Amino acid sequence: MANIHFKAASAWNQNGDHPDDYAKDKLGFENGELRTWSGQECREMDWEGQVVRYYRHPAIGGGQQCAHCGRNLHDHGWIDESEGGLTVCPGDWILTTVTGHHIPCKPEVFHLITGLTGGG
Ligand SMILES: [Zn+2]
Repeated sequence: MANIHFKAASAWNQNGDHPDDYAKDKLGFENGELRTWSGQECREMDWEGQVVRYYRHPAIGGGQQCAHCGRNLHDHGWIDESEGGLTVCPGDWILTTVTGHHIPCKPEVFHLITGLTGGG
């Protein structure tokens, strides 16, 4: 089995759960004026996270269920990695690779990985 390297991992259940979701300030317009919202303000307004975004797809309606976990797809997150992005189920872990990419990981797989490497 190949070695799996990642520098951080955090459990994700809902929007805003990832520690880097509001790490950056956000530029935008308010009443026609350009302004900056701090990460804290974005969090308070429950804007979508910067790492794990809202799961929204024009071809998928709100009533559809996830093939993996059976929950409504609108309870899910989405990471802008690879072509088409990566879906995050509630309860998944988000791994941060050494190169700064974010990858969702099923909890049973995560526990297998961390068990094998002695990390918990
Ligand atoms: Zn799911």
